[in-house]
Amino acid sequence: MEIKDISRLYEIVEKNQITTNKLDLICYSLDLAPLPESLLKSYGMISPDVVVRPKNTQELSQIVAFANQRDIPITPRGAATTAAGGAIPIEGGIVLDLCSLNKVLEFNEEDQYVRVETGLEFQRLIDWLEAKGWQLGAYPSSAPSATIGGYLGAGAGAGVGIPKYGNIGDQIISLKVVLADGRIVQTSPGESWLFIGSEGTLGVIGEIALRVFKKGKRKFYLFGFDSLYAGINALTELIKLRPYFISFLDKGFVTFLNEVGASRLPLKELTVPLVIEGSEQELERDEKKVNEICSAATRYREKLAIEEWHHRFKVGLSFKSLGPSILVQELRVPLVKLEEVLREIKSMLAEERWGIESLASDNNTIVLVVYILADERNKADYFKKFAYIQKFGNLEIDYNSTPFGIGLHNTALMPKIHTEEALQVMRSLKGYLDPKNILNPSKTTQIRVPGLMAASSMKMMGIIPEVVEFGLESASYMPLSLTRLGLKMMGGKLK
Ligand SMILES: Cc1cc2nc3c(=O)[nH]c(=O)nc-3n(C[C@H](O)[C@H](O)[C@H](O)COP(=O)(O)OP(=O)(O)OC[C@H]3O[C@@H](n4cnc5c(N)ncnc54)[C@H](O)[C@@H]3O)c2cc1C
Repeated sequence: MEIKDISRLYEIVEKNQITTNKLDLICYSLDLAPLPESLLKSYGMISPDVVVRPKNTQELSQIVAFANQRDIPITPRGAATTAAGGAIPIEGGIVLDLCSLNKVLEFNEEDQYVRVETGLEFQRLIDWLEAKGWQLGAYPSSAPSATIGGYLGAGAGAGVGIPKYGNIGDQIISLKVVLADGRIVQTSPGESWLFIGSEGTLGVIGEIALRVFKKGKRKFYLFGFDSLYAGINALTELIKLRPYFISFLDKGFVTFLNEVGASRLPLKELTVPLVIEGSEQELERDEKKVNEICSAATRYREKLAIEEWHHRFKVGLSFKSLGPSILVQELRVPLVKLEEVLREIKSMLAEERWGIESLASDNNTIVLVVYILADERNKADYFKKFAYIQKFGNLEIDYNSTPFGIGLHNTALMPKIHTEEALQVMRSLKGYLDPKNILNPSKTTQIRVPGLMAASSMKMMGIIPEVVEFGLESASYMPLSLTRLGLKMMGGKLK
């Protein structure tokens, strides 16, 4: 969709807040896990026309109103550290680069909250608060680049702090959200949940007022387990102590991390970094329990444990450096199913170079981030790996877990995750809040490539990737309008 009267945008923002540069538009068409162009074409993707960087929530509201009046698709984007395609502007139009909204607006020590703009990176807020003796209750391990609004948009299901303080959704005092028609609404804590995990399809978050906590004393541990079973049992018990941070690294992943110099850990079946936090008495009490639970494990020196804590943001992306790129699938697994799921993943990915990062979440679940090394330039090989998305989908359904982040690539799984009635409610809500379907179309509940078609193409990618490569390359010469018509005729939801 071409924005005919783009000049009107200059009445809202200044020239340096807009780019239509071709290279910029290509960069803003990707997220953390770049896809081959032919795959994007098979999605019937329309390239974006313009990237706009609003300076404040008022401007954001005017841009959204502008898009709504002209029926222009609009894709909110934080740092694009997600990999399910949620931040990909699949229907073209406007990309809203929200990283320009990055100020701390207010800090209230008495009422214990901070109010920030949506595009502020976590790391900056963490450092800013910690220098004052305060801290956040939850943040993702992508904190050096992830934005606060992007974390909320993507669902905020895992993070440092969650086992102790709960999901960040429960720490929100209010959000300022720009609705599809440009109106700005301020939510109450309960209403905020509507927008968490909606991936920018229901509104664009402009400001966030968030509870903060006094920084407690911390104790750092690092344990090595000789068996998966012993490690998972200990992990399950340790989570009950509600630590500030707990995760695990499996042997294969540690081998790779050591290879790139991102860690220098001894090789054990499972390595568990743990941080507990509280008063002196609480730490003393918890330490006794930690020692009991981990009595059969190897306990490493505190210096190494602290080193791992400082590495907590580097793990996943250090692995990517072995790349050139990665495919990422995140799954939320109930702790009781963890061992089975890990064994399945290991057998499924036996031929790949892959690794798992994990983070304890709430409600006795753990989020697994599975990284598979990939190279989108080697297309046949890439397609073979892309097919794992469907395999993971089936694995998730089998083990009562759910994909974490629907975005674009996981939409075909929605009918397996939710009942038709639940999907209808979600779609009605979308229709009510965004009747022209301008906000991040073809994401979450809008299934662009319907189930059967997605399942059969993914299956073929896994079995005969060279044939799929040939097919997609040939199809990429087809006029875009034909690809889009084909998808629509198959029942795909395109704008
Ligand atoms: C190494 C690594 C570690 C990670 N660790 C974690 C983790 O611990 N926990 C976790 O939950 N995730 C994790 N992730 C996934 C991801 O980084 C996070 O979800 C992150 O918070 C997303 O922020 P972002 O700014 O990159 O969002 P983006 O990727 O830019 O956006 C995510 C989604 O939200 C929408 N969106 C963006 N901004 C807004 C807004 N202001 N209003 C409405 N919608 C918006 C986008 O359209 C998109 O659909 C990790 C990823 C990597 C690569």
